[in-house]
Amino acid sequence: MKILVVNSGSSSIKYRLYDMAEESLLAKGLVERIGIEGSLINHYPSGKDFLKKEIDIPDHRKGIELVIEALLDSRYGVIKSISEISAVGHRVVHGGEKYSGSVLLNEDVMNTLNEFIELAPLHNPPNILGIKVCQDLLPNIPQVGVFDTAFHQSIPEQAFLYGIPYGFYEKYRIRRYGFHGTSHKYVAQKAAEMLGKDLKELKIITCHLGNGSSITAVKEGKSIDTSLGFGTISGVIMGTRCGDIDPAIIPYLMEKENLSFKEINNILYKKSGFMGLSEGISSDMRDLEEEAIKGNKRAKRTLDVLYYGLKKYIGAYTAAMNGLDVLVFTAGIGENSPKLRRAVCEDLNFFGIRIDDKINYDQNGKKAIISTEDSKVTVLVIPTDEEFMIAHDTAEICNNFRPKAGH
Ligand code: ADP
Repeated sequence: MKILVVNSGSSSIKYRLYDMAEESLLAKGLVERIGIEGSLINHYPSGKDFLKKEIDIPDHRKGIELVIEALLDSRYGVIKSISEISAVGHRVVHGGEKYSGSVLLNEDVMNTLNEFIELAPLHNPPNILGIKVCQDLLPNIPQVGVFDTAFHQSIPEQAFLYGIPYGFYEKYRIRRYGFHGTSHKYVAQKAAEMLGKDLKELKIITCHLGNGSSITAVKEGKSIDTSLGFGTISGVIMGTRCGDIDPAIIPYLMEKENLSFKEINNILYKKSGFMGLSEGISSDMRDLEEEAIKGNKRAKRTLDVLYYGLKKYIGAYTAAMNGLDVLVFTAGIGENSPKLRRAVCEDLNFFGIRIDDKINYDQNGKKAIISTEDSKVTVLVIPTDEEFMIAHDTAEICNNFRPKAGH
Protein backbone atom coordinates (compact mmCIF):
# COMPACT_ATOMS: atom_id res chain seq x y z
CA MET A 1 0.00 0.00 0.00
CA LYS A 2 1.54 3.29 -1.15
CA ILE A 3 0.47 6.48 0.60
CA LEU A 4 1.17 10.02 -0.57
CA VAL A 5 1.43 12.58 2.24
CA VAL A 6 0.77 16.22 1.37
CA ASN A 7 1.40 19.23 3.58
CA SER A 8 0.15 22.23 1.66
CA GLY A 9 1.18 25.68 2.92
CA SER A 10 0.46 29.12 1.53
CA SER A 11 3.44 29.12 -0.87
CA SER A 12 4.83 25.61 -0.53
CA ILE A 13 3.84 21.95 -0.76
CA LYS A 14 5.82 19.31 1.15
CA TYR A 15 5.20 15.74 0.07
CA ARG A 16 6.31 12.19 0.81
CA LEU A 17 5.44 8.86 -0.74
CA TYR A 18 5.61 5.82 1.56
CA ASP A 19 5.37 2.12 0.96
CA MET A 20 3.47 1.11 4.08
CA ALA A 21 4.06 -2.63 3.65
CA GLU A 22 7.79 -2.02 4.18
CA GLU A 23 7.28 1.19 6.19
CA SER A 24 9.80 2.74 3.79
CA LEU A 25 10.07 6.16 2.23
CA LEU A 26 10.00 6.02 -1.58
CA ALA A 27 10.40 9.73 -2.28
CA LYS A 28 10.08 13.12 -0.68
CA GLY A 29 10.17 16.65 -1.95
CA LEU A 30 9.23 20.27 -1.69
CA VAL A 31 7.50 22.66 -4.07
CA GLU A 32 8.52 26.18 -3.11
CA ARG A 33 7.63 29.79 -3.89
CA ILE A 34 4.23 29.03 -5.39
CA GLY A 35 2.91 32.20 -7.02
CA ILE A 36 6.23 33.97 -6.39
CA GLU A 37 9.15 34.58 -8.76
CA GLY A 38 11.80 31.83 -8.58
CA SER A 39 9.42 28.93 -7.97
CA LEU A 40 10.86 25.42 -8.03
CA ILE A 41 10.46 21.77 -7.11
CA ASN A 42 13.09 19.69 -5.32
CA HIS A 43 12.36 15.97 -5.60
CA TYR A 44 14.36 13.33 -3.69
CA PRO A 45 13.62 9.74 -4.75
CA SER A 46 15.16 7.23 -2.32
CA GLY A 47 18.32 5.65 -3.71
CA LYS A 48 18.38 7.80 -6.87
CA ASP A 49 19.71 11.19 -7.97
CA PHE A 50 17.60 14.11 -6.90
CA LEU A 51 15.75 16.42 -9.26
CA LYS A 52 15.71 20.20 -9.01
CA LYS A 53 13.47 21.96 -11.48
CA GLU A 54 13.07 25.73 -11.63
CA ILE A 55 9.80 26.38 -13.34
CA ASP A 56 6.90 28.82 -13.20
CA ILE A 57 4.44 27.53 -10.56
CA PRO A 58 1.59 30.05 -10.48
CA ASP A 59 -0.71 28.06 -8.22
CA HIS A 60 -1.15 24.92 -6.10
CA ARG A 61 -2.69 23.01 -9.02
CA LYS A 62 0.50 23.36 -11.02
CA GLY A 63 2.47 22.41 -7.89
CA ILE A 64 0.62 19.12 -7.41
CA GLU A 65 0.84 18.41 -11.17
CA LEU A 66 4.62 18.70 -10.87
CA VAL A 67 4.68 16.38 -7.84
CA ILE A 68 2.74 13.74 -9.80
CA GLU A 69 5.04 14.19 -12.82
CA ALA A 70 8.13 13.77 -10.63
CA LEU A 71 6.74 10.62 -8.99
CA LEU A 72 6.06 9.13 -12.44
CA ASP A 73 9.23 10.40 -14.17
CA SER A 74 11.16 7.71 -16.06
CA ARG A 75 14.48 8.75 -14.45
CA TYR A 76 13.55 10.27 -11.08
CA GLY A 77 10.21 8.59 -10.53
CA VAL A 78 9.35 5.84 -8.06
CA ILE A 79 6.02 4.56 -9.44
CA LYS A 80 4.84 3.57 -12.93
CA SER A 81 1.20 4.52 -12.63
CA ILE A 82 -0.85 6.83 -10.46
CA SER A 83 -3.09 3.86 -9.61
CA GLU A 84 -0.23 2.56 -7.41
CA ILE A 85 -1.11 5.29 -4.89
CA SER A 86 -3.75 3.85 -2.54
CA ALA A 87 -4.58 7.08 -0.71
CA VAL A 88 -3.47 10.62 -0.01
CA GLY A 89 -3.07 11.85 3.58
CA HIS A 90 -3.28 15.60 4.13
CA ARG A 91 -2.00 17.56 7.06
CA VAL A 92 -4.75 19.89 8.25
CA VAL A 93 -3.89 22.29 11.05
CA HIS A 94 -7.31 22.84 12.63
CA GLY A 95 -10.04 20.28 13.12
CA GLY A 96 -11.91 22.38 15.71
CA GLU A 97 -13.89 20.45 18.33
CA LYS A 98 -15.31 18.14 15.72
CA TYR A 99 -12.40 15.85 14.91
CA SER A 100 -10.62 13.82 17.54
CA GLY A 101 -9.07 11.55 14.92
CA SER A 102 -8.24 11.44 11.23
CA VAL A 103 -11.12 11.29 8.73
CA LEU A 104 -11.93 10.43 5.15
CA LEU A 105 -12.41 13.76 3.36
CA ASN A 106 -15.93 13.68 1.92
CA GLU A 107 -18.10 16.65 1.03
CA ASP A 108 -19.50 17.02 4.56
CA VAL A 109 -16.03 17.13 6.09
CA MET A 110 -14.90 19.68 3.49
CA ASN A 111 -17.82 21.93 4.41
CA THR A 112 -16.92 21.66 8.09
CA LEU A 113 -13.28 22.47 7.36
CA ASN A 114 -14.39 25.71 5.74
CA GLU A 115 -16.09 26.62 9.03
CA PHE A 116 -12.74 26.26 10.85
CA ILE A 117 -10.99 28.80 8.63
CA GLU A 118 -11.90 31.43 11.25
CA LEU A 119 -9.92 29.47 13.85
CA ALA A 120 -6.80 29.03 11.69
CA PRO A 121 -6.97 31.79 9.07
CA LEU A 122 -3.34 31.39 7.96
CA HIS A 123 -3.12 27.60 7.86
CA ASN A 124 -6.47 26.02 7.01
CA PRO A 125 -7.06 27.83 3.65
CA PRO A 126 -3.85 26.50 1.98
CA ASN A 127 -4.48 23.05 3.55
CA ILE A 128 -7.99 23.04 2.03
CA LEU A 129 -6.66 24.25 -1.30
CA GLY A 130 -4.15 21.36 -1.40
CA ILE A 131 -6.94 18.86 -0.69
CA LYS A 132 -9.21 20.28 -3.43
CA VAL A 133 -6.44 20.16 -6.03
CA CYS A 134 -5.60 16.54 -5.12
CA GLN A 135 -9.30 15.57 -5.22
CA ASP A 136 -9.42 17.10 -8.69
CA LEU A 137 -6.22 15.60 -10.07
CA LEU A 138 -6.51 12.20 -8.34
CA PRO A 139 -10.28 11.72 -8.38
CA ASN A 140 -10.40 7.99 -7.71
CA ILE A 141 -7.98 7.99 -4.80
CA PRO A 142 -9.33 8.38 -1.25
CA GLN A 143 -8.13 11.50 0.59
CA VAL A 144 -7.74 11.58 4.36
CA GLY A 145 -7.39 14.59 6.68
CA VAL A 146 -5.01 14.34 9.67
CA PHE A 147 -5.42 17.22 12.12
CA ASP A 148 -2.80 18.89 14.32
CA THR A 149 -5.50 19.48 16.91
CA ALA A 150 -7.07 15.98 16.95
CA PHE A 151 -4.82 14.32 19.55
CA HIS A 152 -5.63 17.08 22.04
CA GLN A 153 -9.40 16.64 21.86
CA SER A 154 -9.11 14.35 24.89
CA ILE A 155 -8.09 17.32 27.08
CA PRO A 156 -10.75 17.67 29.81
CA GLU A 157 -12.86 20.78 30.26
CA GLN A 158 -10.95 21.91 33.38
CA ALA A 159 -7.83 22.23 31.20
CA PHE A 160 -9.33 23.50 27.96
CA LEU A 161 -11.50 26.30 29.35
CA TYR A 162 -10.06 29.77 29.85
CA GLY A 163 -11.20 32.01 32.69
CA ILE A 164 -13.21 34.37 30.49
CA PRO A 165 -17.01 34.61 30.38
CA TYR A 166 -18.31 31.14 29.48
CA GLY A 167 -20.56 32.66 26.82
CA PHE A 168 -17.50 33.31 24.62
CA TYR A 169 -16.77 29.61 24.61
CA GLU A 170 -20.36 28.89 23.61
CA LYS A 171 -20.50 31.67 21.02
CA TYR A 172 -17.02 31.49 19.46
CA ARG A 173 -15.63 28.15 20.73
CA ILE A 174 -12.77 30.01 22.43
CA ARG A 175 -10.87 27.28 24.29
CA ARG A 176 -7.52 25.50 24.34
CA TYR A 177 -7.15 23.41 21.18
CA GLY A 178 -3.42 22.63 21.14
CA PHE A 179 -1.26 21.88 18.10
CA HIS A 180 1.60 19.57 16.98
CA GLY A 181 -0.77 16.75 18.00
CA THR A 182 0.52 14.39 15.31
CA SER A 183 4.06 14.77 16.64
CA HIS A 184 3.10 14.39 20.32
CA LYS A 185 1.09 11.27 19.50
CA TYR A 186 3.91 9.79 17.42
CA VAL A 187 6.64 10.27 20.03
CA ALA A 188 4.42 9.09 22.88
CA GLN A 189 3.72 5.86 20.97
CA LYS A 190 7.41 5.45 20.08
CA ALA A 191 8.40 6.02 23.72
CA ALA A 192 6.16 3.16 24.87
CA GLU A 193 7.51 0.97 22.06
CA MET A 194 11.13 1.80 22.94
CA LEU A 195 10.56 0.89 26.59
CA GLY A 196 8.49 -2.20 25.77
CA LYS A 197 5.64 -0.84 27.89
CA ASP A 198 1.94 -0.35 27.41
CA LEU A 199 1.22 3.29 26.52
CA LYS A 200 -1.92 3.09 28.67
CA GLU A 201 0.20 2.56 31.77
CA LEU A 202 2.52 5.52 31.27
CA LYS A 203 2.57 9.17 32.33
CA ILE A 204 4.57 11.00 29.68
CA ILE A 205 5.56 14.61 29.03
CA THR A 206 6.43 15.25 25.39
CA CYS A 207 8.44 18.41 24.56
CA HIS A 208 8.14 19.29 20.87
CA LEU A 209 10.69 22.09 20.53
CA GLY A 210 11.15 23.55 17.05
CA ASN A 211 10.48 26.96 15.54
CA GLY A 212 7.10 26.51 17.16
CA SER A 213 7.09 24.60 20.44
CA SER A 214 4.61 22.83 22.67
CA ILE A 215 4.71 20.64 25.73
CA THR A 216 2.04 17.98 26.27
CA ALA A 217 1.02 15.84 29.23
CA VAL A 218 0.10 12.38 27.93
CA LYS A 219 -1.64 10.16 30.49
CA GLU A 220 -2.70 6.63 29.57
CA GLY A 221 -2.04 7.43 25.91
CA LYS A 222 -4.24 10.54 25.89
CA SER A 223 -3.33 14.20 25.82
CA ILE A 224 -4.66 15.76 29.03
CA ASP A 225 -3.06 19.19 28.68
CA THR A 226 -0.83 21.08 26.27
CA SER A 227 0.94 24.42 26.23
CA LEU A 228 -0.34 25.84 22.94
CA GLY A 229 -3.94 26.90 23.17
CA PHE A 230 -6.48 28.81 21.12
CA GLY A 231 -3.76 30.27 18.92
CA THR A 232 -0.22 29.06 18.31
CA ILE A 233 1.41 31.50 20.69
CA SER A 234 1.12 30.40 24.34
CA GLY A 235 3.45 28.17 26.35
CA VAL A 236 7.24 28.51 26.25
CA ILE A 237 8.98 31.21 24.19
CA MET A 238 9.50 30.21 20.57
CA GLY A 239 11.55 31.45 17.60
CA THR A 240 9.51 34.62 17.16
CA ARG A 241 6.42 33.98 19.34
CA CYS A 242 6.12 35.32 22.88
CA GLY A 243 4.78 32.28 24.79
CA ASP A 244 2.79 32.87 27.99
CA ILE A 245 2.43 36.53 28.86
CA ASP A 246 0.13 38.45 31.17
CA PRO A 247 -2.80 39.54 28.95
CA ALA A 248 -2.71 42.95 30.68
CA ILE A 249 0.40 43.70 28.63
CA ILE A 250 -1.58 43.76 25.39
CA PRO A 251 -3.93 46.72 25.96
CA TYR A 252 -1.17 48.52 27.90
CA LEU A 253 1.28 48.26 24.99
CA MET A 254 -1.37 49.10 22.42
CA GLU A 255 -2.11 52.32 24.26
CA LYS A 256 1.50 53.28 25.04
CA GLU A 257 2.80 52.61 21.54
CA ASN A 258 -0.40 53.54 19.72
CA LEU A 259 -0.55 50.12 18.09
CA SER A 260 -3.33 48.71 15.97
CA PHE A 261 -4.67 45.19 16.48
CA LYS A 262 -2.61 44.05 13.47
CA GLU A 263 0.58 45.65 14.78
CA ILE A 264 0.36 44.11 18.27
CA ASN A 265 -0.41 40.75 16.71
CA ASN A 266 2.65 41.10 14.53
CA ILE A 267 4.84 41.90 17.54
CA LEU A 268 3.59 38.94 19.59
CA TYR A 269 3.78 36.38 16.76
CA LYS A 270 6.70 37.62 14.65
CA LYS A 271 8.96 39.85 16.74
CA SER A 272 8.99 38.23 20.16
CA GLY A 273 10.39 34.96 21.55
CA PHE A 274 14.08 34.30 20.84
CA MET A 275 14.20 37.12 18.32
CA GLY A 276 12.62 39.73 20.57
CA LEU A 277 14.27 38.82 23.87
CA SER A 278 17.72 38.63 22.29
CA GLU A 279 17.14 42.04 20.66
CA GLY A 280 17.46 40.69 17.16
CA ILE A 281 20.27 38.13 17.45
CA SER A 282 18.20 35.38 15.84
CA SER A 283 15.07 33.27 15.91
CA ASP A 284 17.29 30.22 15.42
CA MET A 285 18.50 28.22 18.42
CA ARG A 286 21.87 27.42 16.83
CA ASP A 287 22.75 31.12 16.58
CA LEU A 288 21.69 31.78 20.16
CA GLU A 289 23.74 28.88 21.50
CA GLU A 290 26.80 30.04 19.53
CA GLU A 291 26.45 33.59 20.83
CA ALA A 292 25.87 32.42 24.42
CA ILE A 293 29.13 30.41 24.30
CA LYS A 294 30.94 33.61 23.27
CA GLY A 295 29.49 35.28 26.37
CA ASN A 296 26.73 37.28 24.71
CA LYS A 297 24.40 38.32 27.56
CA ARG A 298 21.37 38.88 25.32
CA ALA A 299 21.65 35.33 24.01
CA LYS A 300 22.20 33.93 27.50
CA ARG A 301 19.15 35.59 29.05
CA THR A 302 16.98 34.35 26.17
CA LEU A 303 18.11 30.77 26.74
CA ASP A 304 17.59 31.14 30.50
CA VAL A 305 13.99 32.26 29.97
CA LEU A 306 13.37 29.23 27.74
CA TYR A 307 14.99 26.72 30.14
CA TYR A 308 13.05 28.14 33.09
CA GLY A 309 9.77 28.05 31.15
CA LEU A 310 10.34 24.41 30.23
CA LYS A 311 11.10 23.47 33.83
CA LYS A 312 7.85 25.10 34.95
CA TYR A 313 5.80 23.15 32.41
CA ILE A 314 7.48 19.89 33.40
CA GLY A 315 6.65 20.63 37.04
CA ALA A 316 3.08 21.63 36.27
CA TYR A 317 2.34 18.61 34.10
CA THR A 318 3.95 16.23 36.60
CA ALA A 319 1.49 17.64 39.14
CA ALA A 320 -1.40 17.41 36.64
CA MET A 321 -0.69 13.69 36.13
CA ASN A 322 0.29 13.03 39.76
CA GLY A 323 3.57 11.57 38.56
CA LEU A 324 5.88 11.16 35.61
CA ASP A 325 7.38 8.05 34.01
CA VAL A 326 8.84 9.37 30.78
CA LEU A 327 10.10 12.74 29.53
CA VAL A 328 10.57 13.01 25.75
CA PHE A 329 12.47 15.64 23.76
CA THR A 330 11.71 15.98 20.05
CA ALA A 331 11.77 18.31 16.97
CA GLY A 332 14.65 20.53 15.76
CA ILE A 333 15.77 21.81 19.17
CA GLY A 334 14.61 18.88 21.30
CA GLU A 335 16.46 16.38 19.13
CA ASN A 336 19.61 18.38 18.47
CA SER A 337 20.43 20.48 21.50
CA PRO A 338 22.15 18.52 24.29
CA LYS A 339 22.85 21.85 25.99
CA LEU A 340 19.14 22.58 26.31
CA ARG A 341 18.33 19.06 27.50
CA ARG A 342 21.00 19.29 30.17
CA ALA A 343 19.91 22.77 31.31
CA VAL A 344 16.26 21.71 31.53
CA CYS A 345 16.91 18.43 33.33
CA GLU A 346 19.44 19.67 35.86
CA ASP A 347 18.12 20.40 39.33
CA LEU A 348 15.01 18.31 38.69
CA ASN A 349 16.18 15.49 40.97
CA PHE A 350 13.23 16.23 43.27
CA PHE A 351 11.10 14.82 40.44
CA GLY A 352 13.45 11.87 39.97
CA ILE A 353 14.92 13.17 36.71
CA ARG A 354 18.63 12.48 36.14
CA ILE A 355 20.35 12.43 32.79
CA ASP A 356 23.63 10.85 31.75
CA ASP A 357 25.37 13.79 30.14
CA LYS A 358 27.82 11.68 28.18
CA ILE A 359 25.00 9.79 26.45
CA ASN A 360 23.11 13.09 26.12
CA TYR A 361 26.00 14.50 24.05
CA ASP A 362 27.25 11.30 22.36
CA GLN A 363 23.87 10.17 21.08
CA ASN A 364 22.73 13.66 20.03
CA GLY A 365 20.16 13.72 17.22
CA LYS A 366 19.42 10.00 17.55
CA LYS A 367 16.73 7.97 19.21
CA ALA A 368 18.18 7.35 22.68
CA ILE A 369 17.57 6.88 26.39
CA ILE A 370 19.57 9.69 27.98
CA SER A 371 18.62 9.20 31.65
CA THR A 372 20.85 7.43 34.15
CA GLU A 373 20.06 3.90 35.33
CA ASP A 374 18.91 5.21 38.71
CA SER A 375 16.71 7.98 37.29
CA LYS A 376 13.09 7.48 38.36
CA VAL A 377 11.93 9.12 35.14
CA THR A 378 13.17 7.79 31.80
CA VAL A 379 14.34 10.65 29.61
CA LEU A 380 14.25 10.02 25.86
CA VAL A 381 15.24 11.73 22.65
CA ILE A 382 12.96 10.62 19.80
CA PRO A 383 13.18 12.14 16.32
CA THR A 384 9.65 13.09 15.33
CA ASP A 385 8.08 11.93 12.07
CA GLU A 386 4.75 13.66 11.54
CA GLU A 387 4.61 12.62 7.89
CA PHE A 388 4.94 8.95 8.73
CA MET A 389 2.20 9.30 11.34
CA ILE A 390 -0.05 10.91 8.69
CA ALA A 391 0.70 8.02 6.30
CA HIS A 392 0.01 5.51 9.08
CA ASP A 393 -3.38 7.07 9.98
CA THR A 394 -4.30 7.34 6.30
CA ALA A 395 -3.53 3.67 5.67
CA GLU A 396 -5.51 2.66 8.75
CA ILE A 397 -8.57 4.67 7.70
CA CYS A 398 -8.47 3.34 4.15
CA ASN A 399 -8.15 -0.24 5.39
CA ASN A 400 -11.20 0.26 7.61
CA PHE A 401 -13.25 1.72 4.76
CA ARG A 402 -12.24 -0.85 2.17
CA PRO A 403 -15.10 -3.31 1.48
CA LYS A 404 -14.23 -6.66 3.02
CA ALA A 405 -13.88 -9.67 0.72
CA GLY A 406 -17.17 -11.43 0.14
CA HIS A 407 -19.28 -8.32 0.86
P1 ADP B 1 9.75 23.69 12.59
O1 ADP B 1 8.95 24.03 13.81
O2 ADP B 1 9.81 24.81 11.59
O3 ADP B 1 9.46 22.33 12.00
P2 ADP B 1 12.26 22.45 13.43
O4 ADP B 1 11.62 21.35 14.19
O5 ADP B 1 13.00 22.14 12.20
O6 ADP B 1 11.25 23.63 13.14
O7 ADP B 1 13.25 23.20 14.45
C1 ADP B 1 13.97 24.32 14.11
C2 ADP B 1 14.82 24.72 15.31
O8 ADP B 1 15.73 23.64 15.60
C3 ADP B 1 15.66 25.97 15.07
O9 ADP B 1 15.61 26.83 16.19
C4 ADP B 1 17.06 25.38 14.96
O10 ADP B 1 18.05 26.28 15.38
C5 ADP B 1 16.98 24.20 15.89
N1 ADP B 1 18.10 23.29 15.64
C6 ADP B 1 18.35 22.55 14.54
N2 ADP B 1 19.55 21.91 14.66
C7 ADP B 1 20.07 22.28 15.85
C8 ADP B 1 21.28 21.97 16.56
N3 ADP B 1 22.19 21.16 16.04
N4 ADP B 1 21.45 22.53 17.78
C9 ADP B 1 20.54 23.36 18.31
N5 ADP B 1 19.38 23.68 17.70
C10 ADP B 1 19.14 23.15 16.50
